[in-house]
Amino acid sequence: MFGVHDVLMTGICFCKFHFRIFESSLLISRIIFAMNENLKLRRMAEAKLPTEFGHCLIVGFEEISSGRDHIALVYGDITTPDPVLSRIHSECLTGDTLFSLKCDCGHQLGATLSQIGQEGRGVLLYHRQEGRGIGLVNKIRAYALQDKGLDTVEANLQLGFKPDERDFTLCADMYKLLGVRAVRLITNNPLKVDILKKAGINVVERVPIEVGRNGNNDRYLKVKAEKLGHLFKNCNEK
Ligand SMILES: [Zn+2]
Repeated sequence: MFGVHDVLMTGICFCKFHFRIFESSLLISRIIFAMNENLKLRRMAEAKLPTEFGHCLIVGFEEISSGRDHIALVYGDITTPDPVLSRIHSECLTGDTLFSLKCDCGHQLGATLSQIGQEGRGVLLYHRQEGRGIGLVNKIRAYALQDKGLDTVEANLQLGFKPDERDFTLCADMYKLLGVRAVRLITNNPLKVDILKKAGINVVERVPIEVGRNGNNDRYLKVKAEKLGHLFKNCNEK
């Protein structure tokens, strides 16, 4: 004989079964969308994330070819047509989390999230291409060469890399997977603006960000301006 408990358990199993089918079909539809748009990434998972700057949605992506992951933090409603305040922040473990003074990354990350939090709407793409795409260990090797007097560009070249190995088309794909087509981009790097525009993202405005300059990173920021085309008021006015 079936009791109430059996009926309930059957119902729960039935719901779990259908939820799994729903999850699978959602994943399949996202993979088909990525294939149709010829995207390099898949949108894999998302969850609510409370932060000091407000509550957001954290979205995880995976590169189809390599399985490397990236994330987006989505604040507020980005489904409305107004351009979204946004920053592509390339991973810098030393600057973002270990308080390094060799660069301005941690300050830029904090200032961006603060600005987005104040607007109550925006997207931070956390682009996990550490050390301008050369990886953490090679970044440390580059730092060792900088200890001997090379600048950040010369060090990358000596290690056999380009000055900047990052692939920003991945970021255009993340925007597309989030449904974002127009942004106000927080950056000093005009290359990011050009690549996004070519990839079909409408960058309606470049929002400068100049924070975290100190005695240890002054030369690094100067080289970024002179050799990598970054736009800093302090450097470019010289
Ligand atoms: Zn950094």
